[in-house]
Amino acid sequence: MNAPIIKRPFDVAAIRAQFPILSRRVNDRPLIYLDNAASAQKPEAVIEAMSASMRGAYANVHRGLHTLANETTEAYEAARTSIARFLSAPSRESIAFTKSGTQAINIVAAGLDIKPGDEIVLSVMEHHSNIVPWHFLRERRGAVLKWLDIDDDGDIDLLKVDGLIGPRTKMVALTHMSNVLGARTPAAEVVRIAHAKGVPVLLDGCQAAVHGRVDVSALDVDFYACTGHKLYGPTGIGVLYGKPERLAALPPFEGGGEMIDVVERERVTYNEPPHRFEAGTPPILEAIGLGAAIEWINAQDRAAIEAHEAMLRDRAMNALRALNWVKLHGQQPNKGAIVAFSVDGAHPHDVAQILDRQGVAVRAGHHCAQPLMQRLGVTATARASFACYNTAEEVDHFIEALHKARKLLS
Ligand SMILES: *Cc1c(COP(=O)(O)O)cnc(C)c1O
Repeated sequence: MNAPIIKRPFDVAAIRAQFPILSRRVNDRPLIYLDNAASAQKPEAVIEAMSASMRGAYANVHRGLHTLANETTEAYEAARTSIARFLSAPSRESIAFTKSGTQAINIVAAGLDIKPGDEIVLSVMEHHSNIVPWHFLRERRGAVLKWLDIDDDGDIDLLKVDGLIGPRTKMVALTHMSNVLGARTPAAEVVRIAHAKGVPVLLDGCQAAVHGRVDVSALDVDFYACTGHKLYGPTGIGVLYGKPERLAALPPFEGGGEMIDVVERERVTYNEPPHRFEAGTPPILEAIGLGAAIEWINAQDRAAIEAHEAMLRDRAMNALRALNWVKLHGQQPNKGAIVAFSVDGAHPHDVAQILDRQGVAVRAGHHCAQPLMQRLGVTATARASFACYNTAEEVDHFIEALHKARKLLS
């Protein structure tokens, strides 16, 4: 029998204590890490799981006939089970490990059967990871990209979605949450509209999987991509969920060991999903680390974390809204804890640098979302993004540091 998971009441200090890096100082100040949408920090449980594997239970996976190979395979496959449950996937076989969220999307795009004039529908607030693979289809196979506009908050109009999907549409590729605006998209409705026309949907869940609970079965989505390093796991590991019949119809992306069935001089046949998409030695330690991250998240009170992140978001948004020299980008009421903003008369890079001198890490730039920057009429923004370990005091320090930046820059 499994030991029951005891969920502790939400205690941000207890959470912080599990992230070793949070006790370091930056520029002689306590680190205030508000760059979580770019990558999150790692709890001891993840560091320990990867280290323990390297120290005591490591070999290559699959087809090993020795104890270490079997133990490592078990840990690797257990991570697959964890992520399948985490996403409410119908089976473990519907989960392929990739090297990143980016690679998960590339696998789907490259595998589509595209003829000149076939269409891909995508929104203007996609991350480049969910744009450039479709540009490849435009450049190489004559696909046409159909762009879905947003309003200033990142809301999309379902009538426009319906209008863009036509007889030539081969995929609707949509973010489940913007990495800049924090906006959530009405994914289930989009899936319903697309499916009514027989069109599959890929959701980019690299942010949504961090800031809320995802149920790919309830969404009825065809493909779902997410990434380990933003989910408190390591870099080098991503996840591609696909409906079993969709994965079965998708050709392999890379060729090599593990992804084959039979290889002869004049013939090759491929393994079943998910192994068909895991050519070569997979990111074993990274998968084990991601499995540990998922189990760590599962052991927390997720509803409490969501409420905590919403508090951080609202505290930051309200403070910034009160400043007539700050422009907020994206104010959807229930958005993820991602706050993009511009300071009048100051370049976002300068703002970020002055914040860094005060120990506050935010990101400045186009956030891998240039079409969105064009839509917003800016070349770059600053962005503060929050995680479960951030505190209300950190939000207040960030706002104070921003006042200093404003004084220095104006
Ligand atoms: C980070 C991110 C990606 C890319 O994921 P990687 O694993 O870093 O390649 C894609 N889409 C969104 C929305 C992201 O935030």
